[in-house]
Amino acid sequence: MLTAEAIIDIAALQHNFKLLHGKCPRAKVAVVIKANAYGHGAVQFAKALPEADAFAVSRIPEAIELRNAGIKQPILLLEGCFCVDELKSASALGFHTMIHNEQQLKEFESIKADKPIQVWLKIDTGMHRLGISPELVAAYYERIKASPNSYDEIGFASHFYNADELDSDATTQQIKCFEEATKGYSGPRSLSNSAGVLYWPDAHYDWLRPGIALYGIVPRVESTGAEEGLRSVMTLKSKLIAVREHKKGEAVGYGHNWVASQDTCIGVVAMGYGDGYPRTAPNGTPVLVNGRKATIVGNISMDMITLDLGLNAQDKVGDEVIFWGENLPVEEVALHIGTLAYELVIKLTGRVKKTYTN
Ligand SMILES: *Cc1c(COP(=O)(O)O)cnc(C)c1O
Repeated sequence: MLTAEAIIDIAALQHNFKLLHGKCPRAKVAVVIKANAYGHGAVQFAKALPEADAFAVSRIPEAIELRNAGIKQPILLLEGCFCVDELKSASALGFHTMIHNEQQLKEFESIKADKPIQVWLKIDTGMHRLGISPELVAAYYERIKASPNSYDEIGFASHFYNADELDSDATTQQIKCFEEATKGYSGPRSLSNSAGVLYWPDAHYDWLRPGIALYGIVPRVESTGAEEGLRSVMTLKSKLIAVREHKKGEAVGYGHNWVASQDTCIGVVAMGYGDGYPRTAPNGTPVLVNGRKATIVGNISMDMITLDLGLNAQDKVGDEVIFWGENLPVEEVALHIGTLAYELVIKLTGRVKKTYTN
């Protein structure tokens, strides 16, 4: 019996790509598929999106994996190259690289690349994680431009830190800062992650960089992908391996952290933190069993989760349990667990079988 399975809907991914690109059809799209496409499968996603203008990842092995799989589009290294060898690979394999500090610039100047490398200058507009300060743009730009390793055109990028909050003016400030820092340059500009694409039309510029929204998930915790017209891409499910009568006053599982307040049935499902379902999920976290909502009770085990199915439940061994998907938004589950949907989808382990459907 097949148990833990993630059904990944490629048609939904393609729908989401079109919807996001439709927010700014003149812009190009660098589809963010770092961390194995947030756990969904980077190679499968890259192959399913031939219209993408580029793909973006965080580590050079991720970029190399895509090239080896036959992906032809440019691949952007979001944090740039971490050493000279990576720069040489970027030149040989056609990766775009960010430059965000002096060390990266020096290494870029020091090599003799066989082919030029497309550089994006990363500007810190307020996140204070990566990027050069806006005052340094002119100096960096001149040095990059003077290097034979660079193409004539240099891109400009920055990243939002709060764009999922629609009523904070942090994002307006960041857009203003980016606008001023890049004024007068002709190179392409890129500012928008998913939140920027969805909520901040002034931030679209020349290249969009959506990640999470492609997977049908919105970055705002109060909302769901469906509210934005996005379709859920991943359905996580497994099966009941036991259904047991349970008496009022009895507890269940390690630590006995839940006690039944009335007679009920407990369903035991083949899923646990060994599959990547978080051990921190509290009593009351929802799942779907035979189309209705039930709740998790007791501590999450490595291989099993216990559910309160209710008195006289008709559910049987082998019945399907859905942990998130179209009718149970992963954002809602994340809210119960106190994490982000990003982390839930990314953390599934190799024991969960991935099945791609169209
Ligand atoms: C991860 C990342 C993105 C995509 O962010 P989402 O919130 O998933 O859309 C865009 N740009 C950079 C620099 C990133 O690191």
